[in-house]
Amino acid sequence: MAGTVHVIGAGLAGLAAAVRLASRGAAVVLHEAAPQAGGRCRSYFDRQLNAVIDNGNHLVLSGNTAMREFTRVIGSEHTLTGPGRAEFAFVDLESDERWTVRLSEGRLPWWIFDRRARVPGTKWSDYLSLAPLLRAGPEATMTDAMRCPPTLYKRLIHPLFLAVLNADPAEGSAQMAGAVIRETLAAGGKACHPLIASDGLDVSFVTPALAFLDAKGAQVLMQHRVRALGYAADGSRVESIDFGDGPQALGEDDAVVLAVPPNVAASLVPGLTTPDEYRAIVNAHFQVPPPPGCPPMIGVVNGVSDWIFAFENRLSVTISGADHLLDESRESLAQRIWEEVARACRVPATPMPVWQLVREKRATFAATPAQDTRRPGTKTRWRNLMLAGDWTATGLPATIEGALRSGNRAADELRPA
Ligand SMILES: Cc1cc2nc3c(=O)[nH]c(=O)nc-3n(C[C@H](O)[C@H](O)[C@H](O)COP(=O)(O)OP(=O)(O)OC[C@H]3O[C@@H](n4cnc5c(N)ncnc54)[C@H](O)[C@@H]3O)c2cc1C
Repeated sequence: MAGTVHVIGAGLAGLAAAVRLASRGAAVVLHEAAPQAGGRCRSYFDRQLNAVIDNGNHLVLSGNTAMREFTRVIGSEHTLTGPGRAEFAFVDLESDERWTVRLSEGRLPWWIFDRRARVPGTKWSDYLSLAPLLRAGPEATMTDAMRCPPTLYKRLIHPLFLAVLNADPAEGSAQMAGAVIRETLAAGGKACHPLIASDGLDVSFVTPALAFLDAKGAQVLMQHRVRALGYAADGSRVESIDFGDGPQALGEDDAVVLAVPPNVAASLVPGLTTPDEYRAIVNAHFQVPPPPGCPPMIGVVNGVSDWIFAFENRLSVTISGADHLLDESRESLAQRIWEEVARACRVPATPMPVWQLVREKRATFAATPAQDTRRPGTKTRWRNLMLAGDWTATGLPATIEGALRSGNRAADELRPA
């Protein structure tokens, strides 16, 4: 691209596009409406906990290729930590049973033949029920596409895919689940090592990206909300950007990467269809050091909690597809979650530690088959306007990996032919 590329939105999609363009020597200006970058993947100081926390606990996997490449380029790969193995600890709060699923490293899933590595109460043949997801059509939900035996469903498939899709498998897209399986479970345990930004999302994904952009001479403008885009009368290109003080003309060779949430994109681009249903995520944080030997994350079965993350001085819970919890009082919900955490992690239930509850109502678009059909591609009918964001047609659910890939793709489409 000979001209300047205006990247609008400094979430991970926008940051990925800006980093890729800047590393190729393009002139980049990144415009972000908020006072800080990161979008739905950010850290902030919480007064109640007197600590920097993330807007939500984020898990990525070693098989997330765009994530690995992004953190390598911005120099933050070492900040992602994990057990170094594909290990997932679980507790069933009803029976108090505990187990750890341990995937074998290679492509051949030896672990399903090992009683100590697979889910207790399951047979190796139960796992074959996942296979139809790999060839599911666009209209099927996960539960339409597969006949999963109840124990495997309850103890692994439901908690895993509720987190992956942020939608219950009963409504979640089988095709999106299949895409995730292809790149993780089917690629072997080496692609499934859990990785956590243990010093915070900012440290792993945002601050180093901004430092990289600064070093490459890119301009980053915070609190610079785009109010409107102006389109050329001949329909060929975007010709201006309005930041609230009138249209600013773009040069013939300038381009725009629009990396904003779907509702904002729909308001800026005429005729654009985008996902318009969302699902919530609830995070609860408790200021208490994890007990010795506590796994970095624990899947919870038969509880309101889904996953418990152990940070240095905090136990933190994620609940996906959490729309049913949006109306409950903060105190009652925090109390319920804390009682589960105390049992799962075997720490005293009283007194309840200092806590914080964060409810992200529009955490992700709803990963249903119907919403998947509303995801647009990268290119638009205007030659210098590209779309990016986890909600564009990446084939993946709304994840860090999807957001980064969408940004990379937008940058690649702007390459001179
Ligand atoms: C609580 C929670 C937990 C999650 N957990 C996981 C997880 O465990 N693993 C995982 O992979 N993913 C997870 N995700 C999803 C992941 O965070 C998102 O997929 C990713 O951050 C989306 O990035 P994005 O750039 O597409 O969108 P966004 O982060 O929404 O970025 C859009 C940016 O555009 C800016 N903007 C909006 N309007 C304008 C405007 N008019 N002008 C300029 N800028 C504008 C916004 O301020 C924002 O910074 C989670 C998300 C949430 C909310």
